[in-house]
Parts: sequence; structure tokens; C-alpha cells
Amino acid sequence: MPKRLLAFLVPAALTGWFLRGRLAIAVTKKALPKRISADPAGALPDGLHIAICGSGSPIPDEQRGNPCVAVIAGDAIYVVDAGEKASETFNRMQLRPDRIEAVLLTHFHSDHIGGLGSMALQRWVANAASTKLRVLGPTGVDRVVDGYNEAYALDSSYRTAHHGEAIAPSSSAGMTAEPFEFAAGEKSCVVLEEGGLTVTAFEVDHSPATPAVGYRFDYKGRSIVVSGDTVYSDSLVEASTGADLLVHDALSADLLKLVEDASRDAGFLNRAQILVDVTDYHATPAQAADAARNAKVGALALTHVIPPLPIKALEGPYLGDAKERFTGPLWIANDGDLYSLVVGGREVDRTTLFSRGPIG
Ligand SMILES: [Zn+2]
Ligand SMILES: [Zn+2]
Repeated sequence: MPKRLLAFLVPAALTGWFLRGRLAIAVTKKALPKRISADPAGALPDGLHIAICGSGSPIPDEQRGNPCVAVIAGDAIYVVDAGEKASETFNRMQLRPDRIEAVLLTHFHSDHIGGLGSMALQRWVANAASTKLRVLGPTGVDRVVDGYNEAYALDSSYRTAHHGEAIAPSSSAGMTAEPFEFAAGEKSCVVLEEGGLTVTAFEVDHSPATPAVGYRFDYKGRSIVVSGDTVYSDSLVEASTGADLLVHDALSADLLKLVEDASRDAGFLNRAQILVDVTDYHATPAQAADAARNAKVGALALTHVIPPLPIKALEGPYLGDAKERFTGPLWIANDGDLYSLVVGGREVDRTTLFSRGPIG
């Protein structure tokens, strides 16, 4: 290249790079105030809403995090399960951790508790929480909470030492466990009643993971059920009767067989056997649809999606005949989904809380 041309191009390229950087800073500066003051939960109409913070499973899935559903009742947020990536997705949806009243665990498989420490930490420092995070669950929740409190003890001590008691109060670091169990012969019980919200826990079948429960949320005439992990369960159908929205786990055995066969062919025999084993304690989309139809719910969202669906065209084979079995609104949940049930209405509206942008 002639020297004179080079002498012209190099400063021009540097100038272009400099201007692009300046422009990026200006765009970021403009977007930051809106991003930082965002409070979508506070801006929602009075009602019951759920934000899907994790619609996947332990199988690695670039589109879906491990299970987590944030239930928004009025101004308060109740988080059902907190799998890995849950608090990251919660933040991507611009939900405010200081609105979290409690976490409710359905059972203690790792994919449902792996993000619990981060969820508690985010809530603690978001606005100098004055109380520890309440974690409700069936018997065993105290062991999980004790373990997390111990694992995070050094971290929280560093943060209080670094930022001070006013910002990171040592008295409210960590979590408190609130275990519950059903009375003899009973398969459900009310575990929370506050702010117009009633939460009922009910037994599901995820054996050998026991106890395992689902939760029904009732708020000012609207209702949502979160199944947790289960096969088709009569107690779930009973507890879900007449609910506006059922969020049910769903595994496609046909699609999972493809992964199993490929794993076996590649010599990963352990993985192949695990994929066989998991089919006996999750519902299929067809069974979830049967539960929705038999419980006469208004709408159904499938979550805990197994296997991953990297190509949109796989959604049809994943659903199978579920749409014939349940003819109401039926969705495959995505991370970022917001389902809204406004007080006084009958509909379930679906939108997304993921925003795009330089820092969104
Ligand atoms: Zn499980
Ligand atoms: Zn699970």
C-alpha cells in the first residue's frame, strides 16, 4: 500500500473508532437512568402475574435457565424455586429483588435450589433488607437453608466489612427456613395468607424425590398453580380445579429418546441411562394437557422443558397431541415470559419482560 494512502487511512480508522466509542458512551448514558429505575412489577395493574425466570431443566440449554417462577401478587413477589441462573434472569427482566417476600421450594433437586444463594444475596443488598429471606418448603428445607447460610457466611461477612452495616446489615444476611408438613391423611395445606394472597401447597408425585409439592396462588379472584416436578397427579388436578392458569412441567419422551440414542452411540452410557430414568418422574406434554383439561383450568403453560428445543420447528413434535387434549390457550414457556391475570378479568395475557438495548 502506498505510504500516502496508509497515512490517510490510519488516522481515519482511529477517528472512526474514537467516534464509535463516544457514541456508545452517549447511548449508554441516556439509557442508564431508565434501566436503573425500572420497576415493571410496581407498574403492573392489580392482579396476579408470573414472570418465568427459568423454564428449563438440568440439561444444558442456552435458551432456558433452571426452574424458577416469580409470582407477582399486588406489589409483592413470591419466587417458586430458584435454579441456577434464576437471579440473573430475574434481573434481566428488571424485577427488583427488594420486592421478594419469600421463596417457596417445591422439592430439593439441585436444579430447583442451585440459584438460591444468589437470589438471597441480591435481595439482601438491593435495598439494605431488614429481614432475612424467608424460604418455605416441605420438610428438608431447613437443611438446604442451613447449608446455604454456612456456604455464604464468609461472603456476607466480607460484604458487611466492605460496605458497612447501613448497606449490608449483618443481622439480615442469609435466609430463614419455614418448613411445613401436611396433617395426617391430608394432601394439601395453606402455607401463606398475607396481603390478600393465599398460597396452598399440595402433594405431587416425583418419587424418589419426596416430599415434593406444587403451589396454588389465589389473589382477589384470580388463581395460578405451579406444579413443581411431577408425573400426572390426581392431587394436582384436585388442587388446580378451576384455576385460571396452570404452569406444569413437561418432558417429551419421544424427543428425549433422540438424545438418549445419540448418547449411547457415542459411548456415554451413564448419560443415556439417566435420560431413560428421568422419564418416569416427569409428566409429558400430553399428560400435562390431560391434567389441565381434567382440572378445568383456563390456560396451560408448559415449563421445565425437556429436552431443549434449539429449533423452533421442534415445538410441534414436543407438544405432540397436547393441543387436542387441552383446547384452551396453551403455551411453551420461555425465559422472560410475563403472564398477567388482572383482577376483575378472565383472560391470561402473555408478553415478555426481556428488553433489548445496549444494556438491556
Ligand atoms: Zn425434580
Ligand atoms: Zn427439576
